[in-house]
Amino acid sequence: MKYKVLLIITFLLAFYSTIWSQNYVIRKKIQSLTDQVSTLRLKTDIDKLVGFYNRNTFSDTVSENKGIGAARRWLYSEFVKINNASGGRMKVYYDNFYKKLSERFKNVANEDSIKLVNVIAVIPGTSSERVLIINGHYDSRTYSGTDTESFAPGANDDGSGTIALLELARILSRERFKNTIMLAALIAEEQGLWGAAHLAEQAKNTKMKVEGVIANDMIGNITGGDGKSDNTILRCFSPDPIDSPSRNFALYVNKISDEYFPLLKLKMIFRLDRFGRGGDHLPFIRQGFAGIRLTEPYENYKIQHSSDDTPDNISFEYFTRTTQLNLTVASYWANSPETPEIVSITRDPDYKTILKFTCPEPQINLQGFQVYIRETDSEYWTESIFFPTPKATIENTKGKVYNIALQNRDRDYYIFGLASVNKEGYESIASTYNADR
Ligand SMILES: [Zn+2]
Repeated sequence: MKYKVLLIITFLLAFYSTIWSQNYVIRKKIQSLTDQVSTLRLKTDIDKLVGFYNRNTFSDTVSENKGIGAARRWLYSEFVKINNASGGRMKVYYDNFYKKLSERFKNVANEDSIKLVNVIAVIPGTSSERVLIINGHYDSRTYSGTDTESFAPGANDDGSGTIALLELARILSRERFKNTIMLAALIAEEQGLWGAAHLAEQAKNTKMKVEGVIANDMIGNITGGDGKSDNTILRCFSPDPIDSPSRNFALYVNKISDEYFPLLKLKMIFRLDRFGRGGDHLPFIRQGFAGIRLTEPYENYKIQHSSDDTPDNISFEYFTRTTQLNLTVASYWANSPETPEIVSITRDPDYKTILKFTCPEPQINLQGFQVYIRETDSEYWTESIFFPTPKATIENTKGKVYNIALQNRDRDYYIFGLASVNKEGYESIASTYNADR
């Protein structure tokens, strides 16, 4: 008996020390990346972007130093420069498309349709086709959404989300990740999310394996128009229902941020967006992908969409941290394994709840599965249980069906989430299963 207890204690100690040391290695790795974010570079780049004076979607496309055309050529050239400096693995391209215009916009463009351009940089994964899309919109506006002449700096909205992409590219393109990261500077958010709608449709049509979309829109200001200020939180919007792919993704992002970037707290808002507003996560959600929006804690509606949205209203200390949070999530996810799919949740004769799921990866890559549990009226996971993978007999067991039995967890009371954990200790996004759908 004594011997048995000792054996169990030794096993548990070995198990937890492995997890502890893996978490330590991951933490160190992430920190080595977040340490590289340069506040000075963020500032210089925001100034440069604001220098294009007016980035309205309908603004000048010919000038070298003014308007949307000059802005996108500069973004493209920055991505190319970054790529050249990091070994040329990134794929940098203009995503061109035409948009038919409504009567209102025809008068502005003097055309029936307009050529629009997203600027995209892809850091290809080494061994999977799964994609995380991080976007920001590089167009700006002033009071009038069709004013192509007045000063429309858009430093925060959404110079911040756009410039974060350049900084992410600089740091991430030097690394080798398993999964693919797409950095997308999108056009025409202010006209109706046109750039995002195009990219989302394209992703759907080409069956791109998009696991998550993060829309960074206004991630640099900390003070609201009512004087409220907070430089420690960043809002994370995700739509209902509570077990939607977007919500699962939001909880995943929240967990990574809590564990690996405690300098900033995500304030979870369980809604698609702010009242009456939209953002570049929405078109992706409409196409069936998981999407969230990251936005500063409080907004100043006098500054937003005006000539006052200038760099001096950005907290660059805060903007550095919001960029670092993106870097943390992207680099963690890019090493993560694929999500297991729950195929059924049943009750066995002993009243145990049986989760049946398919192994998403060769079993040799995985150390186990994390089961998350919460009651149906709870918004956050309250419990997690780790199940090591059974000893592999065949090397490749991708697609193999597993069962996990849970005692005292009547399926009708709970929401169950399931994630896989790879040998390096990275966890996948959790999947859920809803009997109603
Ligand atoms: Zn915006």
